[in-house]
Amino acid sequence: MIPDRCSFCRGKLREGKTEFMAHVAGEVIIIKDVPAYICEQCGEAY
Ligand SMILES: [Zn+2]
Repeated sequence: MIPDRCSFCRGKLREGKTEFMAHVAGEVIIIKDVPAYICEQCGEAY
């Protein structure tokens, strides 16, 4: 479920791209350009 407000600063969320970091089998995998909702104020991604 996607909140429509940032839970940290109550800022507005907009659609954007972010990086997602996952730990798989002892390795760190970074997936770029993952669609996400990003807070306009603090940059937190959901
Ligand atoms: Zn925020």
